[in-house]
Amino acid sequence: MKNISKFKDEVLKEYPRMQKNDKFTFSCHPGVSCFNKCCNDVNIFLTPYDIIRLRKRLGITSTEFLDKYTILPIDENLKHPIVMLQMLPENLNCHFVDKNGCTVYEDRPWSCRMFPVGAAMPNDVEKNADFYFLINEEVCKGFENGKDWSVESWMKDQGVKDYNELGELFKEISLHEYFVKGKYIEPVKLEMFYMVCYDIDRFRVFVFESTFLKRFNVSKEQIEKMKKDDVELLKFGFKWLRFSLFGEKSLELRDDYMNKIN
Ligand code: SF4
Ligand code: SF4
Repeated sequence: MKNISKFKDEVLKEYPRMQKNDKFTFSCHPGVSCFNKCCNDVNIFLTPYDIIRLRKRLGITSTEFLDKYTILPIDENLKHPIVMLQMLPENLNCHFVDKNGCTVYEDRPWSCRMFPVGAAMPNDVEKNADFYFLINEEVCKGFENGKDWSVESWMKDQGVKDYNELGELFKEISLHEYFVKGKYIEPVKLEMFYMVCYDIDRFRVFVFESTFLKRFNVSKEQIEKMKKDDVELLKFGFKWLRFSLFGEKSLELRDDYMNKIN
């Protein structure tokens, strides 16, 4: 497994930067000699939406999914938890690969959809400097005799639209200037971050089975939407994190609750 910070540094310093209309040649299909090799000993970062899709696909809770299929890498440069797909200890294969390919293909994570394209996020020095890059691993033969793509046409073909929309909202939290400026948040708030972003079923219990809704102004319509739809609940969770972690006015406390505590 690559060191996360080292790889990020390499990408920022050394990888040619691409924009959406830049071109590359690539083709991946079961006939390639390297079929499935990219699903072994690989770093797959999971987004909140990846987990919602995968745990639904597998018919298990997010808590079970996290326990069984993920690891939490430790890196002193990380300001908040990140979750990665665990590889099988016996052969370092992804849990979801078999001889026919990816068994969760329709719900595969964003990184798997995007490969061989990677995306790099801006930092405080380079505002609005998002860029794409090609991950040209030696093992991958897809660059030989491939079809022509632009980054944009590749993303469309791989169905990343919903993933990108939720990804943008996640970035507002994970790349918040609070973290970018190097600040750390206390453990109890890191736990809130983890619950909302990765363990949506635990967050649901927290919202609907605690005093949460007695404290915040949330419309009946919004409550009904959140009960039925994980994505609505996740979007609401992002607002709660912005309120609780960074002190933004993304949610309102209820008047009766405010009167009680004053
Ligand atoms: S989720 Fe699917 S595509 Fe991604 S590494 Fe696992 S088997 Fe491969
Ligand atoms: S290594 Fe590259 S070409 Fe081979 S299966 Fe994986 S993505 Fe496709």
